[in-house]
Amino acid sequence: MSVIKLLSENVANQIAAGEVIQRPSSVVKELLENSIDSGAKSIKLIIKDAGKTLIQVIDDGCGMSKVDLNKCFLRHATSKIRKSSDLFNLKTMGFRGEALSSISSVSHIAIISSTSNDISLGNEIRLEGGTVASEKEVVSNIGTSISVKNLFYNIPARRNFLKSDNVELRHVIDEFNRIALINHEIDFIFVNNGNELFNLKKSIFKERIVRIFGKSTEQKLVPIKENTDIAVIEGFVYKPEYSKKTKSAQFFFVNSRFIKSTHLYHAVKTAYNGLIFDNHHTSYFLSFKVPSDTIDVNIHPNKTEIKFDNDQSIYAILKSSIKYSLGQFNIAPTIDFESSVNLNTPYSYKDKEASIPKVDYDTAFNPFYESKVLSSFSSKDLSFEGLENSFKNVNKDSNIFEDNKASITFSVFQLNMNYIITKTSAGIVIIDQKRAHQRILYERFLKELSFSNNSTQALIFPIKLDFNNEENRMLELVKNSLIHLGFKFDEFDSEGIEISGIHPFFNENQINALFQELVDCQISDFEKTSHTINDFLAKILSKNSSLKSSVKLEKKVQESLVNDLFACKDPNVSPFDKIIFKVISTEEINKIFFK
Ligand code: ADP
Ligand code: MG
Repeated sequence: MSVIKLLSENVANQIAAGEVIQRPSSVVKELLENSIDSGAKSIKLIIKDAGKTLIQVIDDGCGMSKVDLNKCFLRHATSKIRKSSDLFNLKTMGFRGEALSSISSVSHIAIISSTSNDISLGNEIRLEGGTVASEKEVVSNIGTSISVKNLFYNIPARRNFLKSDNVELRHVIDEFNRIALINHEIDFIFVNNGNELFNLKKSIFKERIVRIFGKSTEQKLVPIKENTDIAVIEGFVYKPEYSKKTKSAQFFFVNSRFIKSTHLYHAVKTAYNGLIFDNHHTSYFLSFKVPSDTIDVNIHPNKTEIKFDNDQSIYAILKSSIKYSLGQFNIAPTIDFESSVNLNTPYSYKDKEASIPKVDYDTAFNPFYESKVLSSFSSKDLSFEGLENSFKNVNKDSNIFEDNKASITFSVFQLNMNYIITKTSAGIVIIDQKRAHQRILYERFLKELSFSNNSTQALIFPIKLDFNNEENRMLELVKNSLIHLGFKFDEFDSEGIEISGIHPFFNENQINALFQELVDCQISDFEKTSHTINDFLAKILSKNSSLKSSVKLEKKVQESLVNDLFACKDPNVSPFDKIIFKVISTEEINKIFFK
């Protein structure tokens, strides 16, 4: 009896999917590559929840006919090669015909495509776990739209293996960058959860790099250009002074395909010998064009490693061309082989930071609802004992709260979402919630700035920010205090900063706004308004992270706000010298009623 059986097509596809499709970013890579192969001029990538819920790629390429739509998801179905010798003369990104079959076997996929400009001639096919669920004629522009939903819905182990949305999004962005960088002649739009992360217009290579990695990148680049029979090398490397301990922005492309190569990297490193520290790394964007019959792309499932026939020669050409350009750059730092007028047109990076995915900033963000922040209002503070103590001890010289019983029967309510009203034996107290919170935070930060051991919250993905000279001077001034507070900087130079750790009170999403606020301050303002750098910083931090106006607060939060305010050293005025509360005495109230 035979125990060996042929696996069903579906199982075989799922196994194949394991090799090609590891996470949402692998789907993104395959779909974008297909769009590029289709000759698209414009590609839109839309994802939800870092691609776990939806990955959609829309292109204006050649499209597929109804017949091809019925074949494209079959294993080994490809329009790109016909015979084995084609494998050694590849002009396309894909060639194995396994991406769509792998993706469709582990997701719900819908493909709409049209090969015609006649809008009524489109077709749609839907598959679930690799099986056709429906087919129909639809209205569609020329091109293809592929939506992949519920990735790995039928392989729970895979789905559970996916990392947090932040991590998966980082993978998707990395994959997107690899493709968008080298295909700079194509327009790209990339949207995650409704936020447009990138909107890149067709441009030259250098401009694409700057659009993706930020304005400050432009002055770091040294152009590389070498034209030989074996290879044409073009691109950019970083000036030696921008080398870093960590590896970042390292890109080799061979015939427009991103590849990894320790061998070529060795050539780059060697070219920098004597110019950078041994443990430092440089960034590079290097594109190689080689005759397609001199490389083998088919040695790695993701096609990210390739074999060159002439790898020793390419190594030598690369090394010498980088060495030459770095030398030229030293003599004539302004040398450039291509310049783009576009690059000099104003493009507001303040409003549109291309290198950092925009995360919606929640204006109604209420730190009291954050567990991190709640801990700063310890449960003790929320108890009657806490209330009593704060009124009793801290305000002993204030006659407002002399009656302890008043605090025990402490009642509060909110007026107009801006004021907290409470009563004491002296009368009614009206508190401006925003100013009160600023005072509380200001004193807290001031205290922390005098501590020696503040904790840090490490960031998985360092935040990069770019500033001009003026702004950098402001940052220099407060740098040490920020470090003291628990902020960690991997880079802090005239080109910008890279933050790898933040004070635990802050949320990653707030950091951009906080630093913008900091650099928007004038040094002269600071000198006028603050006694010390710590005082200045505590003011900015409290302003930035305090409650905003018109926020509805829960009872408990109102209570702790009142409580903490009157535990402050100076509860009367905000850090910006504005009155925080007003007492309307019983006498004044009596007067109103002519009593
Ligand atoms: P490969 O890219 O290796 O050929 P895929 O499974 O990725 O294999 O795609 C199968 C086939 O489906 C492609 O060869 C191509 O003919 C067609 N196809 C896939 N995506 C697109 C697209 N966006 N536009 C036009 N044709 C496409
Ligand atoms: Mg493909």
